[in-house]
Order: sequence, then C-alpha cells, then structure tokens
Amino acid sequence: MKHTSPKKIRRIVRALFGLGVLLSIGGALASAPPAEVAGIAVLLGSLAVHFSLYRCPCCGKFLDRSSGDFCPYCGKNMNP
Ligand SMILES: [Zn+2]
Repeated sequence: MKHTSPKKIRRIVRALFGLGVLLSIGGALASAPPAEVAGIAVLLGSLAVHFSLYRCPCCGKFLDRSSGDFCPYCGKNMNP
C-alpha cells in the first residue's frame, strides 16, 4: 500500500465510514444486531485506515483533517 495518494485514502475512508454508518443505523432500526456490529466494525476500520494510512507521501507526517493538495508540513504536492 505504499505511495497511495492521500486523495485516494480519503475516498476509501469516506466510503467505509458511510457504509459503517448505514449498516449500524440500518441494523439498529431493523433490530438486526449482526448488521449493527458489522457497521460499527466497518466504522472502526475506516478510522484505523485514516490514522494509519492518511499520511504525506513525502515526509510521512499524519495529515489529520488537512485536505489540500500540498502537505502542511513539508509543502510538497501530495498528488503529483
Ligand atoms: Zn509532507
């Protein structure tokens, strides 16, 4: 998974997060605990991906909520 651009990671995290929210809320509304648990697991997974992979490809710093094309730490373009 090296050199995956932060933009791509952000998309993956957003998709997983949305899926997790849908599953957990849907599971809760439908009284389906397995779906609820799976939704929460997907939610946690999206957070794990965010915290472990959402980093600058140049300097490796964690980007947190920054979403620009340039790293706030080293100033390099992260989406060449
Ligand atoms: Zn950087």
